Amino acid sequence: MGKLLIVGTVAFDEIETPFGKTDKILGGAATFIGLAASQYNVESGIVSVVGEDFPQSYINILEDKNIDLSSLEVVKGGKTFYWKGKYHNDLNSRDTLVTELNTLADFNPVVSEAFKDADVVMLGNLHPSTQLSVINQMKKRPKLIVLDTMNFWMDNALPELMEVIKHIDVLTINDEEARQLTNEYSLVKAAKAIQKMGPKYLVIKKGEHGALLFHKEEIFFAPALPLEEVFDPTGAGDTFAGGFTGYLAATGDISFNNMKNAVIHGSNLASFSVEQFGTERMESLKKEEVNKRLHQFKALTQFDIELK
Ligand code: AMP
Repeated sequence: MGKLLIVGTVAFDEIETPFGKTDKILGGAATFIGLAASQYNVESGIVSVVGEDFPQSYINILEDKNIDLSSLEVVKGGKTFYWKGKYHNDLNSRDTLVTELNTLADFNPVVSEAFKDADVVMLGNLHPSTQLSVINQMKKRPKLIVLDTMNFWMDNALPELMEVIKHIDVLTINDEEARQLTNEYSLVKAAKAIQKMGPKYLVIKKGEHGALLFHKEEIFFAPALPLEEVFDPTGAGDTFAGGFTGYLAATGDISFNNMKNAVIHGSNLASFSVEQFGTERMESLKKEEVNKRLHQFKALTQFDIELK
């Protein structure tokens, strides 16, 4: 069984979509990554921080999925990271209304002994210095280090982000963030520029338009499954990352060919995540449902064409 170390926010989210709004509910990058990765045969653990206001029922949701929380710090008297977002009618874009870092502001991550030899490290969205600190605590170089980030950190901690990017293998970001990071409109040019910054592999997520995987001159494309119901896109990117790294850690094969499969697994899980508010769908998701939809994915993209 592969070992997956996950870093990222464990949060309270408040979400508004054209279909309704929530109060403060369970969210955070590490939460979505962990729930997605729990679909695979991996031993996974989360490094993160929450405040005393974080309910035991949310801890139970993660522990019930066998996610190790020995590196989840609970700060006495502290408040949990809080994010509020509102989606536009197309559901592909959103405005961040509130980001309260709270306990995340002075978080010093401590990786438990048991995860210092993880095969795969998934550095989910949070401060790039925190992401780097986790890399530095590993006993040996993990087989694969994957990093996800967002415009917030490009705006607020760009030098630190550029530093941590040098040490990773795969960067996963969305199309707008790739453009912001490189000042290139063409995603192909942006991908070339990003590969020069450090990561040998790059995944550009395009929401309902699928995801692109780049490595040297090779490009692979996976569509997003056309869905009847898209309710709340929050966490789709993180769910993708959890499926991508969960699958790679479980198979132990980090070749480009297997990364193509990992992109399909990530896209497949993300298609479930958006069907209900917050983490709801991922909490109830069954292996059989995942497998069934993988077949749909295959059928969607398979064609026989005679080429001379
Ligand atoms: P995604 O929709 O994949 O971009 O991820 C949404 C999740 O990211 C939410 O659950 C938020 O709690 C979390 N999030 C929002 N802003 C930040 C931030 N600046 N740093 C880390 N996590 C964040």
